[in-house]
Amino acid sequence: MAEQHRHKLTPGTKTARVTLGLMLLHCSLKVLTREQLEKLGENAAYSIQGGSLRWLIWFSRTQIQRSRATASCRSRIRTGLELKWAPMRMLVGLLLLVLAIPGAAQQSFPPWTPGTLDMHQINTGRGNSALLIFPDGTSMLIDAGDGGVLPPRGTAPRPSADRKPGEWIARYARHMLAHDAKPVIDYGYLTHFHDDHMGGITDVGRHMPIRMMIDRGWPTYDYPDKLEGPAMVKYQHFLEGLQVERLKPGRNDQIVLRRDAKKYPNFEVRNIAANGEIWTGVTTTTREHFPPLKDLQPNERPTENMCSMAIRISYGKFDYFTGGDMPGARRENAPLWNDVETPVAQSVGPVEVSVLNHHGNRDSQNAFFLSALRPQVFIIPVWSSNHPGEDVLHRMYSTQIYPGPRDVFATGMLEANRLVIGALMDRLKSAQGHIVVRVDPGGDSFRVFILDDSAETFHVKAVHGPYRSR
Ligand SMILES: [Zn+2]
Repeated sequence: MAEQHRHKLTPGTKTARVTLGLMLLHCSLKVLTREQLEKLGENAAYSIQGGSLRWLIWFSRTQIQRSRATASCRSRIRTGLELKWAPMRMLVGLLLLVLAIPGAAQQSFPPWTPGTLDMHQINTGRGNSALLIFPDGTSMLIDAGDGGVLPPRGTAPRPSADRKPGEWIARYARHMLAHDAKPVIDYGYLTHFHDDHMGGITDVGRHMPIRMMIDRGWPTYDYPDKLEGPAMVKYQHFLEGLQVERLKPGRNDQIVLRRDAKKYPNFEVRNIAANGEIWTGVTTTTREHFPPLKDLQPNERPTENMCSMAIRISYGKFDYFTGGDMPGARRENAPLWNDVETPVAQSVGPVEVSVLNHHGNRDSQNAFFLSALRPQVFIIPVWSSNHPGEDVLHRMYSTQIYPGPRDVFATGMLEANRLVIGALMDRLKSAQGHIVVRVDPGGDSFRVFILDDSAETFHVKAVHGPYRSR
């Protein structure tokens, strides 16, 4: 019991009985790599449905019960098993290897159920996209990228280049929303107007209905300058006949539960920022962070990234931040207002999960931002070999900036970046795959699932947690 209880309070640890089961497999066969075993343990710890993993747990539990009769500590359990059960261990170990490994590889992601908050960072290799399923089933798509660069400097298209990223995203969303007879995106949301965030939204809209679009430009699309170019023309054409709104910073009544809001009063989407207008943290008031445009030369105006929209999603004690490509680490001699993260961090406060701003580029995640949000989990949406910057990763892992544990997950780390950054990169909990944060009903705890992104199997590669919301 004590072991189980501690497991619930300490992120990323495994139960003793699973560890013992894995140890047994390891001792008897010495075939599996340590990483494979850890993945198995993580799957088993979540008790996903599936006979083979139940086998593993049953076997481990039986061994513990038997060993407890003759030993009082783990080392003695181990010794006892080694001496007493060697032939039996070999036989059962072989059986488990046959049953458990294919079993683990075939666990499909358990479907969403009412009361649960799911947040999928979808990896197409071509930019950002996140599908959110709120506790009442309301769905939201944050960005639908179709941009970036191709290998070797950029990540490869996932699952493949056979379809456009927007179509892959729509197919992913339809699968995850299969609990609805007619899956629909209730809110389409573009953090800003760069291809790696907006390029695929029209393709998504071709393959599934989007009820409402929210962006930073509607209806004039002229801040800080007239927004032009083929992608904008295509997007604005796509909006014809759609319900569209501009994000209203400070408000918590623009993005709402559309199906059963009364049932989940502790759920909220708070609009934090857009176009440099930033929530103060008090009621719905905002401040203008950028100077008036009339005081700036054309080449000094806010960049597209600085204008990124940001929101905080809360469910009880659980909080999640996502802020597009906003910068926070200024170039030397750049004006202070070029740092958007600092005023945003002041109003957002601590969160459980933070999606990295600007893919973890070197101009992002300043120390103040990190110490104010102090996430337990970071998600890095990667499409280039400079995602994340080495200094950024050092700051993220710094326990001087903020104390306590933290886990980092990336959608698809490039080998080039691993080679450059070195050992620090080995601390990542996952470097490839869709990243799903699943928040339990009420928001007190959550887990992180890594799904295979090489095909549309939605197989679970690993499960991390449970984490406790603070
Ligand atoms: Zn971007």
